Amino acid sequence: MQPVCSGQKPPRTMPQITCQGTTVNDLQKLLDEINQNLSETEDRGRVADYIPELAKQDSRKFGMAIATVGGQTFATGDADEAFSIQSISKVFALTMALGRVGDALWKRVGREPSGTAFNSIVQLEYEKGIPRNPFINAGAIVTTDIVLAGHKPKETIGEMLRFVRSLADDDAIFIDEDVARSETETGFRNVALANYMRAFGNLRNPVDQVLGVYFHQCAIAMSCVDLARAGLFLANKGVNPLAGVRIVPLRRVRRINAIMMTCGHYDGSGEFAFSVGLPGKSGVGGGILAIVPDVASIAVWSPGLDENGNSKLGTVALEKLVTKMGWNVFGA
Ligand code: GLU
Repeated sequence: MQPVCSGQKPPRTMPQITCQGTTVNDLQKLLDEINQNLSETEDRGRVADYIPELAKQDSRKFGMAIATVGGQTFATGDADEAFSIQSISKVFALTMALGRVGDALWKRVGREPSGTAFNSIVQLEYEKGIPRNPFINAGAIVTTDIVLAGHKPKETIGEMLRFVRSLADDDAIFIDEDVARSETETGFRNVALANYMRAFGNLRNPVDQVLGVYFHQCAIAMSCVDLARAGLFLANKGVNPLAGVRIVPLRRVRRINAIMMTCGHYDGSGEFAFSVGLPGKSGVGGGILAIVPDVASIAVWSPGLDENGNSKLGTVALEKLVTKMGWNVFGA
């Protein structure tokens, strides 16, 4: 019989555990083990190809980083290489939109899991142009519309980029113009979703402007190390511990994390909660941001996706890490 993880529950902030007879002294060793274990994996899923520029990604890439609320960072593999965060940007856009209009946002976007694909249009018809949640494309287009209100698209894109840079404390984070252009040329479904919502009066700015901002926010490129650091405010009660700056009130962090848990992986959100047990947000670039409340922010990147459009190896890696560390929010 396999020995189960022994001893007491690991202290929530100290990365020291005893598991299956092996003392894992630090997160670094554990991350390297996970990287090593997964390196032989043949079936890595399929790289997204509906955005042509993303199809160029190398499916053998793998990176993972952990930023702790105590200020330490651990990383393995290609964790310093910038990748396209795509839908993970929706977390930052939601944070900004809530900062702009507060709870009024919930009149225009729901907060229930959709049970449909990230780019589905079917539900919008039934629900009269009010998207189910801010993490499906339709919902994210509405949050972008809210952030854009009263500003020029260029200003808004700049503001979003500055926000993410300040969270990660890294001015090297950039917008990949090739990815933004590629999506602008091929994002017909998003054009349809946006026009449909505009017809219901749920977009206030011109469709081309909203989508221009949306495509650029999705094209933000940053590394796992940067992404883990940028997510720290969600793990640290709303305060970015790197700068000691409050980003959002605690009440709002709880809500964002709740939506990440229930809606962060599209139609695979239930499966992610079941297997990983953390609030998380995926992107079709192959990244996932996951939050261990009060402990750490984790970013993983592996470009191959599963059938729901979520990183296949990234999910496996998170499950391994969370199991070893006792970080599942439903019980260690
Ligand atoms: N930019 C992508 C789109 O709108 C984001 C999708 C995703 O990452 O899930 O199709």
